[in-house]
Amino acid sequence: MRSTDVIDWAQYPNFNEQEFRCRHTGLCYMDARFMTRLQAIRNAYGKPMIITSGYRAKTHPVEARKAAPGEHTLGLAADISVRGSDAFNLLKIALAHGIMRIGVKQTGEGRFLHLGMATSNFPSPMIWSY
Ligand SMILES: [Zn+2]
Repeated sequence: MRSTDVIDWAQYPNFNEQEFRCRHTGLCYMDARFMTRLQAIRNAYGKPMIITSGYRAKTHPVEARKAAPGEHTLGLAADISVRGSDAFNLLKIALAHGIMRIGVKQTGEGRFLHLGMATSNFPSPMIWSY
């Protein structure tokens, strides 16, 4: 069974399926375990979280050029746009909620945090820049 078969977006009142859809295919197979964790993080954070990438199909250009598909293809990760001190606060809360795969990216458009919770075949805990 794919995660989308059981996911109930009503359980994640601060998020909606649209913002987690693969930008390439429109598909959305977020894992309910990850979404439950992300909603708990959102509750503690107390501010809107701008999702810049949620689910990605293996054919998404970012995934297609990897040696092996990343945790976005498992629905176990999201990238979030954050500014200023919000980045530290969000990271602190994510760590407190057991998120053990953290990516940090800085571009001309701002700072982004990748929060992931894949385990099998993925180094964890792990922090990287991308
Ligand atoms: Zn990511």
